[in-house]
Amino acid sequence: MTNGPTQPISKNPVFKRTYVDKNGLNYTICPVEKKYFGAVLQMYNLFEPKESAQGLPPKDPERRKKLINSILNDLVNVITLNEDHVVGHCALLDIQTGVSAELLIVIHQDWQSLGIGKEMTALLIEIARFKNYQKLWLTVEASNMRAIHIYKKYGFKFTEALSSEREMELILTNEMNSSLKEKKQLRRTGIVRDKIYLQHKTGIHHPEAPQRLETIYNMIDRNRLMDKIKLIPSRFASLDEIELVHTPEYIDKIMDTAGEHLRYLDPDTVTSERSYEAAFSAVGGIIEAVKKVVRSDLDNAFALIRPPGHHAERNRQMGFCIFNNTALAAEYARKQLGLNKILIIDWDVHHCNGTQHIFESTDEVLVFSAHRSPFFPGTGTLEEKGKGEGLGYSVNVPLSPGKKDIDYVEIFKTILYPIALEYKPQLIIISAGFDTHYDDPIGGMKVTEQGYAYLTNIILEIAEKVCKGKVVAILEGGYDLGALRKSVKTVIETLYKGFEDTEKNKINKMKPHASTLQILEDVKAHYNEFWKSLKND
Ligand SMILES: [Zn+2]
Repeated sequence: MTNGPTQPISKNPVFKRTYVDKNGLNYTICPVEKKYFGAVLQMYNLFEPKESAQGLPPKDPERRKKLINSILNDLVNVITLNEDHVVGHCALLDIQTGVSAELLIVIHQDWQSLGIGKEMTALLIEIARFKNYQKLWLTVEASNMRAIHIYKKYGFKFTEALSSEREMELILTNEMNSSLKEKKQLRRTGIVRDKIYLQHKTGIHHPEAPQRLETIYNMIDRNRLMDKIKLIPSRFASLDEIELVHTPEYIDKIMDTAGEHLRYLDPDTVTSERSYEAAFSAVGGIIEAVKKVVRSDLDNAFALIRPPGHHAERNRQMGFCIFNNTALAAEYARKQLGLNKILIIDWDVHHCNGTQHIFESTDEVLVFSAHRSPFFPGTGTLEEKGKGEGLGYSVNVPLSPGKKDIDYVEIFKTILYPIALEYKPQLIIISAGFDTHYDDPIGGMKVTEQGYAYLTNIILEIAEKVCKGKVVAILEGGYDLGALRKSVKTVIETLYKGFEDTEKNKINKMKPHASTLQILEDVKAHYNEFWKSLKND
């Protein structure tokens, strides 16, 4: 929310009320203070002079889109019409601490003759649908039968009769706890993509090559996915932001690679002339994604960046990774956005040694990793459970090779799901590596692109239950170009429209490997002293 009050003051007691729906969720409806009326004038500046004189939104679809975007970006919580006497206004309220964002319109008789009621209602319904609001309230003078007739046509129903006003309500979507299927195609998904990430060159025969992103970006364009999702512009991260995780000496070392062709920081990790720009921009793009999701400008996001990050430690690069993107996303949410419960889910085939070490002493970030073991980087055993206040908040599921979709689904349902519901994170970050794909040359696992969609769906289900669906995925590994392209596609599609039950059922019919069932028992035994939901009873 960029503009507007957090505590609007009402002059008219009719408008100041709270509403509790049958799921026990609180909605607060309040009108706005006069000082915020400027926002409306800003909105009218977008109207054509003729329309503006009548107070009507533009008919032209392009300008209408521009107007809606302007409202979404700048006015988000307050739209009020006519500053002399309040004849109509609505409030889009998004109070981040658990109160749902809803919308109220009040339109009075004298505007009706100008058609503003009808036009504004149509516009606000569009906005509310776009923002996934559940309900829209409207009050109308009881004597204004013409308006009441129009609103009924839109689907508004009376909720309450007041002395001189009628209150009407429009249910925009299904109940708050409706299934993902019902809500599909309503989620607002953003992606981070930028040509600068292709400038991190690693020499011939290096698996972590620019072609990984080239093939993903081409897939997005070929399938016209940008029509369904939003672009989150990337930017250079500041030094302060990178220092949330990394030491100044290490950051200097990375900046020092600028302009140099192929410097081997270690046998795996190479930089080129512009690698530091790519690395700084990856972090900047991810921070922008986190901000948009935490502030509910988007429901979820996928940062399609490189270099990857989860092996990077505070003071050194490792395993193709320069800055720990996922850790920086979590630290930004924690230190700059005030969150204190963040869940990181790492499904890359490799254990996230860097991420685990960075957060092993805190309970404010829970790091869950399912990975091949023993395997590079050698960490991620069942004994690594965190330290001090972080004890129990590093959860590792080490796996032997050959695991399929159903093995991962079973692990997510049996371990991740209950722990996540018990922890109740405010944000979920996925370290999304695709080197568990059956075509991957490195991983040795057998996950399919449908499997990734299913895992994404489980995570979204958790997020819907605990944090209003707030999920940010960040690309890690994955070295077969075809596998990467297909898998990122299914994950993006799941993020914005969910995953079909018929596809889930195909995977559910498979049987998990015996070694998976064994590891599930081992994980429960190791972690049930910290997570009571893992206790077998
Ligand atoms: Zn990996």
